[in-house]
Amino acid sequence: MKTNNPLYGAIEGGGTKFVCAIGTGPNDIRAEARFPTTTPEETMGQALDFFKQQEENFGELTAIGFACFGPLDPNPASPTYGHILPTPKPGWSHADVVCMVSSAFDIPIAFDTDVNGAALGEWRWGKAQGLKTFIYLTVGTGVGGGAYVEGNLLHGLIHPEMGHITVKHDMGKDPFEGICPFHGDCLEGLASGVAIEKRWGQRGGTLPQDHSAWDLEADYIAQALANYSLTLSPQRIIVGGGVGSLPHLMPKVQTKTRDYLNGYIQSPVILENIESYIVSPGLGNRSGILGAIALAEQALQAQS
Ligand code: ZN
Repeated sequence: MKTNNPLYGAIEGGGTKFVCAIGTGPNDIRAEARFPTTTPEETMGQALDFFKQQEENFGELTAIGFACFGPLDPNPASPTYGHILPTPKPGWSHADVVCMVSSAFDIPIAFDTDVNGAALGEWRWGKAQGLKTFIYLTVGTGVGGGAYVEGNLLHGLIHPEMGHITVKHDMGKDPFEGICPFHGDCLEGLASGVAIEKRWGQRGGTLPQDHSAWDLEADYIAQALANYSLTLSPQRIIVGGGVGSLPHLMPKVQTKTRDYLNGYIQSPVILENIESYIVSPGLGNRSGILGAIALAEQALQAQS
């Protein structure tokens, strides 16, 4: 069955699960499935089988967008384009995941980080519509950030790794050493969901809202947001993820970020309206999978 209308396949590849969808946007998701992240062969095989099955119902796909956990190589000119780069995740280091997609589907494929994908989703349908420069940060199991700068997703040398920046760590106030295997007490090492659970002995979701954990958490995130603000001059910062989306955390993060900037950035949106500068995702927890659809859309446009 051949159709003239575009139909996109979307993969949101996460460290614990892969979400796959077929459709063209938030109001047109025709099918969706989730698979646990096991080995590249098994998980990618399930994703591609899902697309093949759904093509029988909905017609041939016109492009595929793949937003994946990293680190990864998103540069089409690089010899290792489409590979997962060395990662502690067993079995995934050097996996050529884009080749797995392209050997099953001879259509345009876009490949980027999960957070760049989520950023693009927010630009296309969420809270970054019309913006030229903004950041999407996720604080969940890990911490990562995608950046859209002057109208393009930012890659640079490889891609940003905003979760691994250094933050001030007062060992007197927070003696926890951090969990990052590379840096110990980087932002992810101190503020990720895994760090919260290890520091307090329980998951973030079970800690009471008035627990001191949240002031500490907001402080680390606010330091990061102030640094991103000073570095990239984003017009808005979107904070998502299982921890980042907690409604009681957001006001603390907004206030503390403004305090860290201390009046230096002379913009009304920061000085007077920080609630509209640091925001939750417009697409909720759907930024990632919808972002993968937006990536597919871009891949098709780039080809035509
Ligand atoms: Zn780190």
